[in-house]
Amino acid sequence: MTRRVIVAANWKMNGDLALVDSMLLGLKDLESSNVEVIICPSFPYLSELNQKIKAANLNEIIHVGAQTVSKFFDGAHTGEVSTNMLNDLSIKYVIVGHSERRSVYNETSEQVASKVHAVLKAGLSPILCIGETEEERSSGKIESVLMSQIQPVIDEIGIKNFSDVIISYEPVWAIGTGNPASSAMAQETHYFIRQLIAKQCDQVAANISLLYGGSVNAANCEELFAQPDIDGGLIGGASLQAEQFKIICSAAKGK
Ligand code: PEP
Repeated sequence: MTRRVIVAANWKMNGDLALVDSMLLGLKDLESSNVEVIICPSFPYLSELNQKIKAANLNEIIHVGAQTVSKFFDGAHTGEVSTNMLNDLSIKYVIVGHSERRSVYNETSEQVASKVHAVLKAGLSPILCIGETEEERSSGKIESVLMSQIQPVIDEIGIKNFSDVIISYEPVWAIGTGNPASSAMAQETHYFIRQLIAKQCDQVAANISLLYGGSVNAANCEELFAQPDIDGGLIGGASLQAEQFKIICSAAKGK
């Protein structure tokens, strides 16, 4: 198995039907390549986006993902969406543990681990977000913070299954701030994450895809993606503009 190169768009609670149309119009010439392009809109737009991707014959190139999911299979969980429902809509990717879910909705790493487990059990691909705050970085807690986010997932699913997880390293201080990690700092942290995983299994560490997220844009993506341990990106703000997002997808080609 080789590392997958992935560029995923996280629209967060932005966008509308008009964005679905304008995005696909803007991406209509995106060529097939080694890059898995994923767009994660809010739940109401999943089906529409997926159908329009198929109608535009882009389904080999662009995939659709959800931004979160329930850890429960079904039942009395008002407002939640299950992996089964995503499967029903042919949605194959799910972002899990985004820092906004952790900080605003109090998702713990144990809950995130249960969600990753549910996602894998359903045959979907989880994009697991991890990352430290500015204060955690400046106080030298990076290793313990990243391990506290990774280890519960490994404990829950087992190290062998961990290579089916896509990790997105997203330093909290870089998300939505316009201040990305420098390419050197991002590479250093990605290498460090790979080493942490290698302590438990070399093969998984070598094969797992590690994306970078946090203020990636059309101007800085090339340098970030050129780093040996960065296998693509999770893109927030810049993924709402087709022109920028297309440049970012193209920058990941040939990795
Ligand atoms: C994100 O929300 O995952 C993200 C990386 O946002 P931005 O690109 O806007 O920093």
